[in-house]
Amino acid sequence: MTTQDSKLQFDTMDAGDFKDFAKAMTDYIAEYLENIRDRQVVPSVKPGYLRPLLPDQAPEKPEPWTAVMADIERVVMSGVTHWHSPRFHAYFPTANSYPSIVADMLSGAIACIGFTWIASPACTELEVVMLDWLGQMLGLPDEFLARSGGEAGGVIQGTASEATLVALLGAKAQAMQRIKEDHPDWTDSEIVSKLVGYCNKQAHSSVERAGLLGGVKLRLLKPDAKRCLRGDILRTAMEEDISKGLIPFYVVATLGTTSSCTFDDVDEIGDVCQVHNVWLHVDAAYAGSAFICPEFRYLMKGIHKADSFNFNPHKWMLVNFDCSALWLKKPRWIVDAFNVDPLYLKHDQQGSAPDYRHWQIPLGRRFRALKLWFVLRLYGVENLQKHIRKHVALAHLFEKLCISDERFELFEEVTMGLVCFRLKGSNELNEELLRRINGRGKIHLVPSKIDDVYFLRLAICSRFTEESDIHFSWDEVKASAEEVFKSYKE
Ligand code: PLP
Repeated sequence: MTTQDSKLQFDTMDAGDFKDFAKAMTDYIAEYLENIRDRQVVPSVKPGYLRPLLPDQAPEKPEPWTAVMADIERVVMSGVTHWHSPRFHAYFPTANSYPSIVADMLSGAIACIGFTWIASPACTELEVVMLDWLGQMLGLPDEFLARSGGEAGGVIQGTASEATLVALLGAKAQAMQRIKEDHPDWTDSEIVSKLVGYCNKQAHSSVERAGLLGGVKLRLLKPDAKRCLRGDILRTAMEEDISKGLIPFYVVATLGTTSSCTFDDVDEIGDVCQVHNVWLHVDAAYAGSAFICPEFRYLMKGIHKADSFNFNPHKWMLVNFDCSALWLKKPRWIVDAFNVDPLYLKHDQQGSAPDYRHWQIPLGRRFRALKLWFVLRLYGVENLQKHIRKHVALAHLFEKLCISDERFELFEEVTMGLVCFRLKGSNELNEELLRRINGRGKIHLVPSKIDDVYFLRLAICSRFTEESDIHFSWDEVKASAEEVFKSYKE
């Protein structure tokens, strides 16, 4: 058999077909996104809906791409929750833009695994520069950036949860070395059993999980009345623990908590961390994107006191999942502490550029800097700022509508693109309200509960959202409230 024959045997898609398929898919995607508002935001399928739609086994013979295209609506779209619909208000947003989708195509074509510099120099070097661009856009101090010439710099992680764990492991390595120097007779397990980390009770569950994965204690502290973790709360907790023989080593401050988007006081927390020589990580997963607008930077006051900072451009900055930006002032605590160096991963240029495999948990990594580069160039900072400001303004519009109706109250001050609200009355009343809203099938919201108060969260998620969509969503909320009151009267 010749090489040509064997090629013909399995390579069923040639470049011509690829262009046709990709063109058809591009048309489909544009059509899908531009008309997404017209789709039912959450599908009405039941678990197990999909299996009967597919054959029992993979096809033995190749099918044409047109057959796959023909099945997308029937099999896939019938079970899709449309996160980019202006009717979708659940969770926090996840980003989506045309430049980012196109960048992911190129990343798929290059398909390198950029674990070391030599494994694909552009993959590493574009990431270094993009994280510097992004850091400057947010107003991060130079001490976080690679351009400062020191060891500091940024890296793209998959998610904020990974970033929190990576920072915790760095903090643990740093604390272990320091404590061993002071107490050479203590064993590793003795030291680990004394380590304790801290976060706001309202921090994302991934922080508590990072403690579990890292094998250390993590205390969830009750914040102040504005759900902000303050310096004095942290100081008291640390002093209590120190008096019991424990050793504080890690603090996570949250900027934009998941439930109600409140902000810890990084400035005060940073002071306490400095006194006790504790690593401060800042988790700004959602709200961090807003810091590209100078008017929101007051919320990150004291950021120069942090050791690491993370936010997700894939939430609110038009870069498709996954792209979580993490900056480390001292990456050596991750790079050196978890360095395993098999011969097949060594290369001659080691040390002159980051080998990002040492900055993360997995070995493999995609070329994700491309989508940052495409988005930053094709929008420009000014349009990304407009996007953030528009979402915040739309949240304030919903807030205004809500407070103009005396049956409703806000649960939290609106700072970003999230409105936390409820009907004045019991939790049960509000649970019924949410059931009705989601039951009507026009918009989608999720609830939260803080200190036993149940409330509804309306997040502005889609880049297509306009004022008319907010009025539509408000009308849905009002109509659902009418239904609730009517059912209570019956
Ligand atoms: N931290 C905060 C404050 C969040 O709001 C979220 C998710 O919404 C996360 C962390 C987890 O993000 P990821 O899915 O990127 O791990």
